[in-house]
Amino acid sequence: MNKNVMTIGNIEIMSISDGKLEFDICEFFPDIPDESWDQYRDHLTEENKVSFNLASYFLRSDGRNILVDTGMGPRSRHPDAPWGELMDDMKRNDISPSDIDLVIMTHAHRDHIGWNLTQENDRHVPTFPNARYCLSYKDWEACHNPDLIKERFPNAERCVWPLQELGLIDFLDDETSITSEIKAIATPGHTPGHVSIQISSGGETGIILGDVLHNTAQLREMDWSSRADIDPDLARQTRHSIVNIIEANDYKVLAGHLPSPGFGKIMKLNGVRYWHGF
Ligand SMILES: [Zn+2]
Repeated sequence: MNKNVMTIGNIEIMSISDGKLEFDICEFFPDIPDESWDQYRDHLTEENKVSFNLASYFLRSDGRNILVDTGMGPRSRHPDAPWGELMDDMKRNDISPSDIDLVIMTHAHRDHIGWNLTQENDRHVPTFPNARYCLSYKDWEACHNPDLIKERFPNAERCVWPLQELGLIDFLDDETSITSEIKAIATPGHTPGHVSIQISSGGETGIILGDVLHNTAQLREMDWSSRADIDPDLARQTRHSIVNIIEANDYKVLAGHLPSPGFGKIMKLNGVRYWHGF
C-alpha cells in the first residue's frame, strides 16, 4: 500500500497535500516563551520554525468520493509560496476534480478552503464541478462576522460565500451524519464551528482532527494554544476532551497539519503522551 494511504475498516483514505506553511514559533505561539521550546526543538524545522503540512484527505464512502479540506489554493498572488500543489498532487494520485462528489470543510480558515472555487473572469465556479460542499453553520456565520473577517477569514468572501448563491452548500450541525460511516462532530475553539470527521468501518474508528493540533509538541503541552485559535480556552478544552476520547477508544488519527501524511496514533509511555506517526 502506498505510504499516503491508510485504512479504517473497509475504507481507504488517501492523504494528498497542497504544500506547506511555515511560521516563526513566537509568531504562531505568541504566549509560549522561546525557551519553553528547548525540549521540543526536534518538533520544529532546522530554522526553528513550525511547519504545517496542508493535507486534504480523500476517501470513498456509500459510493461517494469525499474530499476533506482544500488547502490554501492557487499561489497566483504569491508566486514563490510553498503551497498551491493540490491539483498537481491529485493528478499524481489519479484523482480528477470531477471525481469529487462532496467537499467537507473542517472549518473556514484560509488554509482549508482555498481550492473550493476557481475564479473565471468575475465569476466563481466550483473547482470540483460535481461536488456539493459542507461547512458547519456556525463557521458560515463566523466567516460573515464583520469583526472576524479581516483577521480570521480573509479568503472566505471568494472561497466560501459564493457557494450559497451557487446552491452548492449544505450546513453541518454539532453532530451530523454525512454517510453511514462518516459523521462530523463539533470540536469548537479553533473556530466557533470547527468540526472533526469521525470515520467508522469494520469495527475500527478514526478521526480527521482538523486543527485541534498544529504541532506534535502540543500532545505534551496540551494547553499550548496558537494564535490561530479564535477562542483559546475553548480550543484547550476541546483538545483535552477529544484526545481523551481518542486514547480511551484507541482510535486512529488523521491530522492534516502534522508531518505528512498525518496518519498516526496518540500513545502514552510512562504517562507521557506522544505522536506515533504511521
Ligand atoms: Zn489550518
